Amino acid sequence: MYDPDKDHKICHSCQSEIPIQDNRCPYCNQPQLSSFEVKFARLVKGILPFKTPATRILLVTIIAYFFLISIEIISHPQFGIREALLNPPVEIIYRRGAHVRGNLVWWRLITANFVHFGIIHILFNAWALKTVTPYIERIYGAALTIAAFVLLGTGSMLFSNILGGQGIVAGASGALMGFIGMAAVAAHRENTVISLQIRNSMIKWAAFVVVFGLVVSYTGSMGVDNFAHISGAILGAILGFVLPKQSTTGFTKRWMIRGSRLLCMLMVGLCAVAFGMMGLSNVSEKYQNECINSIKIQSFEKAEQACSMAYNTDKSRMISYHNYILIKIIKGDSKEAGRLCKEGRERFSNQKEPISFDEMCKSVGVY
Ligand SMILES: [Zn+2]
Repeated sequence: MYDPDKDHKICHSCQSEIPIQDNRCPYCNQPQLSSFEVKFARLVKGILPFKTPATRILLVTIIAYFFLISIEIISHPQFGIREALLNPPVEIIYRRGAHVRGNLVWWRLITANFVHFGIIHILFNAWALKTVTPYIERIYGAALTIAAFVLLGTGSMLFSNILGGQGIVAGASGALMGFIGMAAVAAHRENTVISLQIRNSMIKWAAFVVVFGLVVSYTGSMGVDNFAHISGAILGAILGFVLPKQSTTGFTKRWMIRGSRLLCMLMVGLCAVAFGMMGLSNVSEKYQNECINSIKIQSFEKAEQACSMAYNTDKSRMISYHNYILIKIIKGDSKEAGRLCKEGRERFSNQKEPISFDEMCKSVGVY
């Protein structure tokens, strides 16, 4: 049976209704998306029937994650609602993905954007996100908005890690300052009377956040990540120039539609991997504690199992090698201890920190 919705698509270039299987538009001759891509996009739109889906997704994600962390804090025997809302304990914030400056862990640069320090922090960022993101989404489309959030958040976290002093860092504000910088540039590129007003208000907003941040940091009343804010705004301005703008009907070139969707999927995939790494690291942490406690009470069978699990789930930490080599020596398996020594030495050879298991390795004849 003939179904106009199922059998037709709208040409992204000239907006004519054309058969869904056409590779080129018979009216404007532009190459078309495949019928699979059209159907997939319709499916996504059916699941997310919003005017600004990217804004919704980002907002729901950061708020939902805040609730999950709050529940974890409240269910902890030592903490309650007060801690969850006003002063979340560092150990839980760290376990859930915050990053510590000076200790660069790549996946934390991504997960940290979704973690917030209490109700004031999340409300402030949620309000900023709700205010600036719809404009970004109208100019660059939903897919690029989500991709840009991840790129800007990760980039600003990286600069904060390299340039900032000691401290634990989390929050979406680096990405959001990126959006403000991006919106200013987008509005400048639009070059209409209204858009130039938007540009000016974005510049004022960014300037206010930076000046406010510098003042409160120097008076010492609040911890504000100025490095993430400033680098976020600069990165956002650059991205605002580099990324293609869409028209009122969306992108008019096939490569832009495909490129923005691909970048979005890549960035969402990267987030999934980052949170997966976080889960694995927490598993490793749990086994590491079990390994250390079992060695202390001389329960060596249990220790060997736990140390092995800690090592297998996180080989990036020196302590994983240290404890696993220790238990292998205790159990008299110097062959395996030696193998781990060689592997560990190689892994940490470029590191400034002295290798903690060096002496143990010498005792089993590995120099
Ligand atoms: Zn056409």
